[in-house]
Amino acid sequence: MQINSIEVIPVRLPLKSVVTLSRGVSRTIEEGKQIILVKLTADDGTVGWGEAGPSRRWSAETTHSCYTTIKHYLAPIVVGRDPFDIAGLHEAMNTELAPGLDPGQPVAKAAIDLAVHDLICKHLGINLQSWIGAKGADRIELSYLVSAPGPDEISKVVQAGLDQGFRSFKVKVGHDPDGDIANMRTAMEVARDCVVWPDANQGYTLDQALRAARGFEALGVELFEQPIPMTDIYGMKKMLSATSMNISLDEAAMGLPFVIELIRREAVEGLVIKVNKVGGIYYGRQLCDLAHNAGFKLIGSGLMDAPIGFAASVHLFAAYGIDFPADLNGPQHIAEDYSAKPLPMEGQFALVPDEPGIGVTMDEDKIARFAIALD
Ligand SMILES: [Mg+2]
Repeated sequence: MQINSIEVIPVRLPLKSVVTLSRGVSRTIEEGKQIILVKLTADDGTVGWGEAGPSRRWSAETTHSCYTTIKHYLAPIVVGRDPFDIAGLHEAMNTELAPGLDPGQPVAKAAIDLAVHDLICKHLGINLQSWIGAKGADRIELSYLVSAPGPDEISKVVQAGLDQGFRSFKVKVGHDPDGDIANMRTAMEVARDCVVWPDANQGYTLDQALRAARGFEALGVELFEQPIPMTDIYGMKKMLSATSMNISLDEAAMGLPFVIELIRREAVEGLVIKVNKVGGIYYGRQLCDLAHNAGFKLIGSGLMDAPIGFAASVHLFAAYGIDFPADLNGPQHIAEDYSAKPLPMEGQFALVPDEPGIGVTMDEDKIARFAIALD
């Protein structure tokens, strides 16, 4: 089997609402959710779809960088390849774009990885979870994302999530510790008996993070996501000894070599997996296997994923039986997408799609309507 052609299609999906990270809004309403879609066609006519959905205030990749990287550097090495040689594909992509602290433009590489996985699973007539070869769960609980400036707004957002049936909430912090502790207190009072945890997106200094940790711990919080910059290994180790909360690393857990270094330095005990940030399913599986074997807390998350990234994440997280609620907040924020039919849900649980491949039926008329030209 051989990949015969690749199409690279930038699209913009409209947003219902924005997410505010420690560095500001991840994308404005005007920007929308911009994605680079990749369509692979094999010599037997099988088609595979993937996508790159960067978040420019979360990591350094942009819609433009993903587009030019895929078009000029990754597409030429994909055509002619045997899609079943996924390890060889990543080796070839890493030869073109060298990995460093992260896998080297992983969001762009993920688009190719996802399209190849979709292609081979469709060819075999199996879903992605079956290809991964693990059926730890058949569904993933979704959490509701809360990013709001003060207790009054926090209260309204949490109540909106409760009204929709959510039972878990991730609160964006990383601004100032005292205000963030007040926001967490409000969220936990409104969402009684729910799972509530903070994510600072590297926004605190070590001193601020230690202060925030004392406040969160006193509220009964059990997990604290990426409190300080991913380069502060000393700080991450210090936080582990300073609190009984699980400190789960997201921005610091982009790729295997750096995570292995954190293990050597005893600075990690929880990993947040995102299919796009790690370069797709191939590295996602390796990080999940590492976390399982090391006995780490494993959290599933995303970058406000559209349906392809969302469904691929559900296959991966369910394969590994992740039972902590996943921050896959695409449906919370994206107003309309490119799929022909909705993905399977039961309440606020995302079910593993049964159909061959990743399980998203693409609507090419909608894709044409959402397509944008990048200058
Ligand atoms: Mg995070």
